[in-house]
Amino acid sequence: MKIGIPAETRAGETRVAATPETVKKLVGQKHEIFVQSGAGLASAITDEAYAAAGATIVDRAMDVLAGCDMLLKVRAPLENEISAYRAGQIVVGMLNPFDAAGLEAMNKAGLTAFALEAAPRTSRAQSMDVLSSQANIAGYKAVMVAANEYQRFMPMLMTAAGTVKAARVLILGVGVAGLQAIATAKRLGAVIEASDVRPATKEQVESLGAKFVDVPFETDEERECAEGVGGYARPMPESWMKRQAQAVHERAIKSDIVITTALIPGRKAPTLLHEETVAQMKPGSVVVDLAVEQGGNCPLSRINEVVDVNGVKIVGYPNLAAMVAADASALYARNILDFLKLVFDKEGQFKIDLEDDIVAACLMCTGGELKRKNA
Ligand code: NAD
Repeated sequence: MKIGIPAETRAGETRVAATPETVKKLVGQKHEIFVQSGAGLASAITDEAYAAAGATIVDRAMDVLAGCDMLLKVRAPLENEISAYRAGQIVVGMLNPFDAAGLEAMNKAGLTAFALEAAPRTSRAQSMDVLSSQANIAGYKAVMVAANEYQRFMPMLMTAAGTVKAARVLILGVGVAGLQAIATAKRLGAVIEASDVRPATKEQVESLGAKFVDVPFETDEERECAEGVGGYARPMPESWMKRQAQAVHERAIKSDIVITTALIPGRKAPTLLHEETVAQMKPGSVVVDLAVEQGGNCPLSRINEVVDVNGVKIVGYPNLAAMVAADASALYARNILDFLKLVFDKEGQFKIDLEDDIVAACLMCTGGELKRKNA
């Protein structure tokens, strides 16, 4: 099959959906690969490196779009891109299963679209789990960004000129990103506390050497909500959120860095760090809100801005994985490569096997019919 890698078009997107390593493997599977010139540059991949792996380099996006049967993307195509696609083309990427308008536009254009974020969180799907591969990077980078904004050391230091205290870091939301944030802050010598609604995270937090901030459940409704669906959190009852806000407040005002990562799929992110709490945080402390694109865990965070509230810096970078573009692309491209094994048979023919739970979950639309299962 002719497979195209167009350059990403969304603002700030530095990642690319294939690397020379994955191109080589696809060429080995008898596919023809077309890469738009410059598509990999922001991830430190040159046209020459793609060509050496067996890809054909084409100048314009139009040449990729017109000539290929399948397009590998990082983010969903914008509306003006979709108008250049043709019916029957296959698109694979992080297409945002919760963006009804975007999916409808792809469906109207007659595309077959696979959104990899919709894959189930099962062992078999792990190697193609784009949410995990990218959240892992975001969690790491969140600590790097925080350390950069923070005007003090992270580790405890005993020097001839006196002792410097270790930074106190509070991590709210302990999914893939939160766990990596704990591990990264730990390596830098910080003292860490972390909280999540899912009770299963307590053990994970403690195994990384951090302290778990427990907000006990008082009703069956609270406990059931916290158990969530498919491992994902659900919105918690107001009663629990109030007690959590109090527990967070008590820790946040003593913390130097707060990293928030709490998400609820398909919904606005829950508010965990309230304005009143930020008002009492120490000047010089830093908040990194990873949920800023979903409305933020702190109402004061703003997309793409570092807001200063009485000396507390609130960082709202929306796409932290794109700030580690080379590794983010390398891992993402391998996720894509693994997913493609499910949609090509041994002869390299494209097929949609709806008996396969991963394929069925990721298929958003085909033949003019919306199929979204996880939305
Ligand atoms: P996510 O990005 O959807 O959310 C981040 C974290 O925020 C989650 O841990 C969630 O529980 C937490 N959260 C939501 N509301 C909160 C609140 N009010 N207060 C505190 N925390 C709150 O999470 P994720 O990293 O995508 O992980 C989601 C699930 O998938 C987890 O159960 C994880 O263990 C599971 N997972 C499984 C696999 C696998 O088996 N292959 C791989 C990765 C993740």
